[in-house]
Parts: sequence; C-alpha cells; structure tokens
Amino acid sequence: MPTTEILESVVPRSIIIGKSILYKLPNVIHSLGKQPKVLIITGTHTKSVAGEPVYSVLSSQKIESEMIIVENSSLESADIYVDQVKQYKPDILISVGGGGIIDISKYCLFKNLHKIELISIPTATPHDGIASPFIFLDDPTEKFIGECRPPVAILADVDIILQHPDLLRYLAAGVGDTIGKITAIWDWKYAWRIKSVKFSRFVGGVLENADTLFQNQVSQALLDPEHAVQVVIKALLIAGVLMGTSNDIRVGYGSEHMISAALHSETPDAKILHGERIALGTILMAHLQGQNHNHVVEILSKAGCPTNLSDLEDEIPPEALITALVKAHKINPKMYTILGKTGLTEAAAWNLATETGVID
Ligand SMILES: [Zn+2]
Repeated sequence: MPTTEILESVVPRSIIIGKSILYKLPNVIHSLGKQPKVLIITGTHTKSVAGEPVYSVLSSQKIESEMIIVENSSLESADIYVDQVKQYKPDILISVGGGGIIDISKYCLFKNLHKIELISIPTATPHDGIASPFIFLDDPTEKFIGECRPPVAILADVDIILQHPDLLRYLAAGVGDTIGKITAIWDWKYAWRIKSVKFSRFVGGVLENADTLFQNQVSQALLDPEHAVQVVIKALLIAGVLMGTSNDIRVGYGSEHMISAALHSETPDAKILHGERIALGTILMAHLQGQNHNHVVEILSKAGCPTNLSDLEDEIPPEALITALVKAHKINPKMYTILGKTGLTEAAAWNLATETGVID
C-alpha cells in the first residue's frame, strides 16, 4: 500500500571530532545566530578536565557563561537541575561530561525548555546518547524517559577523552553499546515483519553497513587508544544521529537493552557500565535470534569488554541474570522483540546463559 506518511528528522547541525578542538566552540555558538547566554552543565569529575577549559574558551571570546555541577544524575535529582537551568534562562546549554550529564541535559530540554539549544561535549565514550534525541535516566534503574531535540552540535575533543581515568574500560563499554545494534536491528526488522511497525530500510541498511565497518576497524584500532577513541566515538555518533534521522528508538534499542535494564534493576548498586550490560545482552539475544553469537563474543573479547558474568567488576550472582532474562520482556511492553509478549521461562534462561558462555 502506498504511504503518504511524513518523516521528520531532527539531527545535529555540526559534528567536530579531533584533538584540541575546543577553540572552535565560540564559532559554533556564533553560527547559531543567538544572543549567546550560555550555561555549562558538567559533573564533579569532568569540571576540571573539561568544564573549566570550556568556560575559559568562552570567557576569552567574551561569551557570558555560568556553570552548574551535576552531583546525581538519577531522575529523583533531575528536577533540581531543571530548576537551575530555568532560573538562569540560557540560550545555549553546553553538556560537558559522560552519559549521565548528557541525559540530565537532555532532560532539562525535555521539561519545557525546548527553546534552548544543546551542545554536547562528551568526556568519555559511554553510549550513543551523546548525539541522539532519546533520554534515559536511572529511576532507580535505566528507564526510557522520552525525547527532545538532539544536540545541535557535538564537539568530541579526543585529547579530553584520552584523559579519562578509566579510558580503556569506557572504550570497551562504547564498543559494547555499538555491538548492541546487531540485535537491535534484528528486533526492529522482526517487529516490522510480525507487527508491521514502521521500519526504515534506509536507516537499517546504513546502520548495518556502519556496524560492519566498525567491527572490521575496532580490533585494530584498540591497539592505539587515540585511534580507538576516534573509531568508537564516530560509531556512537553515527548511531545517535541515525536515531534522530528515523526518529525511532529501535535503531539502537532492542531486546539487548531490555536485558540490560532488567539486570540493572536486579542489581541496582553494582558498578557496571551501560555498555558492559549491553555486551552481555547482545551475546544472549544474538543466540536467541539465531545469529552468530560467537562472532559477537570474538569482537567484544578483542575490545576487552565483558563476555562472561565473572568479567564484570562487581560480583553478580547468576540467579540475578536469570531473573533479568525472565523479566526483561516487561521492561518495555510496547516494544515487540525476540522476547515476545511472555518472555523466557527460567529453564530456557539457564540454557541460553550457559550455551552462550555468559554463565559458566
Ligand atoms: Zn545503549
């Protein structure tokens, strides 16, 4: 049946990736044609490595700015920062930090602050939220909150990201979130076939090609952290931009993300990165989907990303993963995936976890 549907894409206008590129920020701001009243939103750790340098660059060009520090990036605390942003009334909000900071910044836009433009300056390679319109916050565990306009500009300064104290772990987690596209696209196509949800062949095709390219590059790139930062950040940016292009969360969110959220909810205090949970979720769901999960394990192993529960920094009992597998289909009931409407039985969950080697 011919369709007259309208697709509206909202994507970043400017993406700059490179070494020592913060000096380009004033030009980006001026190009927005705004009276630049700027608010920098950063974290306690990212303040000195990136927040203050951003402030200095703006001051040197006589651009008025203030800085607020996010101490807690959960939904519970988010309204504190929304109030601070409302009080200052900036034209431009600059998010300087990792995954939690960008999500809080996007939440500020989401809460009726849509007239503000967002600029994203990532200090790590945590997940594809650095360029996407979608917002996830801990509530108390990973929850999809909604969407806002994506950042109008993204400046990824490789020198800043290289200073991250846990660089290799975050790079590996970035690989984990990127590899998750393998199962997310499968789920998206599956829902299109079974439930005729809207599917973009163009976006799906571009993402599949980008993901293959990334898989070919990543193991080589990881030998050199500087090259690795470039490869991982580009992959995360492409995924984030494609989410804005198709205006569909399914581009980067499938059953592997539901497993991740379910596991987070079983172990809320464990210090596991989003991309690390996605890595395990992708191995499990790839096998369930009939894809080659060994291929996923191979790429993740080369990247130093966890492929077994015991590889995680915090000890997670196998039973917690099994419960997560059994409950995951309830995480986002509107989203049809390989988990179906009723999910896995406990016996099936044990089989899956042991067959894939995620549990010994
Ligand atoms: Zn993700």
